[in-house]
Amino acid sequence: MPAERSDSDSRKLLRRLRDVLSTKAMGQDRLDQITHLIADSIGTEVCSIYLFRDAETLELCATEGLKKAAVHQTRMKLGEGLVGRVARTGLPVNTADAPSEKGFRFMPETGEELYSAFLGVPIQRVGEKLGVLVVQSKLARAYSEDDIYGLEVVAMVLAEMTELGAFSGEGGGGMGKLHKQPVLFRGASGQEGASEGRVWLHEPRVVVTNPVADDPLTEIDRIREAVGVLRVSVDDLLAAESLDKDQKAVLEAYRMFAHSRGWLRRMEEDISSGLSAEAAVEKEQSAARSRLSQVPDAYLRERLQDLDDLSNRLLRILTGQGKDTGAEMPENPVLIARNIGPAELLEYGRKLKGVVLEEGSVGSHAAIVARALMIPMVIHAERITNEALNGDAILVDGDQGIVHLRPEDTVARSFRDKIAMQAEAMQRYASLRDLPAMTKDGVKIGLHMNAGLMADLPSLVGSGAEGVGLFRTELQFLVRNYMPRREELAALYSRVIEAAKGLPVAFRTLDIGSDKVLPYLKPQDEPNPAMGWRAIRVGLDKPGVLRMQLQALIRASAGRPMAVMFPFVSEHAEFVEARAHVLRELHREKSLGHAVPSALEIGAMLETPSLAYAPDAFFEMADFISIGGNDLKQFFFAADRENERVRKRYDSLNASFLTFLQFVVARCAASGTKLSFCGEDAGRPVEALALAAIGLRNLSMRPASIGPVKALLRRVDLAEARAVIDRARSEGAETVRPALMEWLASVGE
Ligand code: PEP
Ligand code: MG
Repeated sequence: MPAERSDSDSRKLLRRLRDVLSTKAMGQDRLDQITHLIADSIGTEVCSIYLFRDAETLELCATEGLKKAAVHQTRMKLGEGLVGRVARTGLPVNTADAPSEKGFRFMPETGEELYSAFLGVPIQRVGEKLGVLVVQSKLARAYSEDDIYGLEVVAMVLAEMTELGAFSGEGGGGMGKLHKQPVLFRGASGQEGASEGRVWLHEPRVVVTNPVADDPLTEIDRIREAVGVLRVSVDDLLAAESLDKDQKAVLEAYRMFAHSRGWLRRMEEDISSGLSAEAAVEKEQSAARSRLSQVPDAYLRERLQDLDDLSNRLLRILTGQGKDTGAEMPENPVLIARNIGPAELLEYGRKLKGVVLEEGSVGSHAAIVARALMIPMVIHAERITNEALNGDAILVDGDQGIVHLRPEDTVARSFRDKIAMQAEAMQRYASLRDLPAMTKDGVKIGLHMNAGLMADLPSLVGSGAEGVGLFRTELQFLVRNYMPRREELAALYSRVIEAAKGLPVAFRTLDIGSDKVLPYLKPQDEPNPAMGWRAIRVGLDKPGVLRMQLQALIRASAGRPMAVMFPFVSEHAEFVEARAHVLRELHREKSLGHAVPSALEIGAMLETPSLAYAPDAFFEMADFISIGGNDLKQFFFAADRENERVRKRYDSLNASFLTFLQFVVARCAASGTKLSFCGEDAGRPVEALALAAIGLRNLSMRPASIGPVKALLRRVDLAEARAVIDRARSEGAETVRPALMEWLASVGE
């Protein structure tokens, strides 16, 4: 390959490649023509294209120079041989003497023993690996930087052509069209349940239809103009007042990339070689992904994400494809996103049939919203945003954490059976609706439901819950983009009380902060928001909103009983102060002549270990205590509930945690304080059983869990369960789960 190949040679080659794309040839013919063109244009004896057959296997799909009989016969695993290495790392391999290179694998059927020099570059599109492009020659020589660069540009065009389906169709085993085949994603369960629907991308992909451009000058003008627009938009974002430290840091990184001369220069070079402005952006995006995905450092990987976001913005500016692409939301939409906040998810609301995230966490409030809305959710479905297209058929298995994208008919059929079986099970649970959650040995457990939206209330009757054990009032604040007014809230709370038809509702005052950010409140610049200025801390320091909310609650009660609880109380003094606000508002309402609650209970959520050790006076003062197991567990183990990696290390049935909860049960028993548990664990049958066994008599959970929890409680002897837990603990078990599961298996239906 002559080192002095000029830009115009490269442009000529790309144009010829584009011409191949515009012919009516079949996929295989096109691939053959392309290898011929590349070898001819750059003067090497061999040019071969290897494409992925499946996620792990590469196949020689076309060659100029190697034996034709090897086409569609020679295959290698990801990482195997030099071709496999290029595919695995996403980085070029360049060697003058391939046979002596570490990892070289000889493929006798190809006749490649004749060739010494080897240069392979990945064919990839925005981090999606499609294959490997290889040139080889007899002469033992290392290819120059220019050669590598030239071949990468060609590979980029091949990637775009593959994306456009240029090599699909019949004829000699051409590869299937991209994004058409079934793909299985194994993630983790975010919310149980199974559903079938159609993909709806939260941020749709940008489609590039013009990888090759004729006029580099026009393209350079386009990219410069687009980068100019991008810079202004990032500067505008940075100038916004309501930014917290993290948002600022991300935008600063954006600005750094947006103003990077190197980035623009590299894209201009790509354009000079014949790429369109859009393809140039994608080429640099792919290259950065390959380089940085090798980096173990989490900070640098985050920067990779920043560059990615920025490249997407630039592509949107260039193509004019905004977030709103004009596409119609399909029926039964399943939302696909990298991640999503609780407010955004609430905006979609119940119309979603499922949610699939690449990131996310079980403990996040987005997951809680999905739970509240009863939408099956899978998290950690890696790379699904690359693979899924709007409208694709999709099956979400929230129990197993599995997603089938574009499923085969047989898979879809058996999945439908699973959905039907679940519906049947729900019916069976419905038959328990009016029966008490009474264990075999006659202990009655009160099952209540968690809610947060008006739309949750119809489940109260259907589920057989004895009341609402936790009404998360912040959801009403999160769904608006303005602070709700007192009258609006009073009307809403009143409707909630009416819908509860005399059953008790425990309203929790506003719990914001951490991952619950109100769009209209200035976010705080905090290093660790979960342990920061949140929940009751905000309410006490800036009591305006708290008081307004308390007034709304008192008015809504209109002479009926009312229960209010405060989130995240860490010490007695906070409770005293918060309670004083209620009493003051009560007095004020009374003096204004408004009806006040016929009975008022004021409680606290126990979400930090410190409160378990509060003085007796606290337990005597609180009318009831509700254990917020999600937060409590995160602080007990010092394991972020939103960080899947650490969250999963500690089982909720950990013996120390249960011992601690038992201590809280004992303290409440000593003072006669009503106690319940309203974290997510209450809705998991085995966890619920353990909580009941250690003495909890009231559990609050999502409505769909009430049936399964009740069914389990009704078939066990609680004293026996307690004995199993005590025995496992005395034997030093870290978690009592295995012992409990083994015992349950022996109990039978
Ligand atoms: C909890 O922490 O367990 C709880 C119920 O509150 P939230 O999940 O809303 O923080
Ligand atoms: Mg909490």
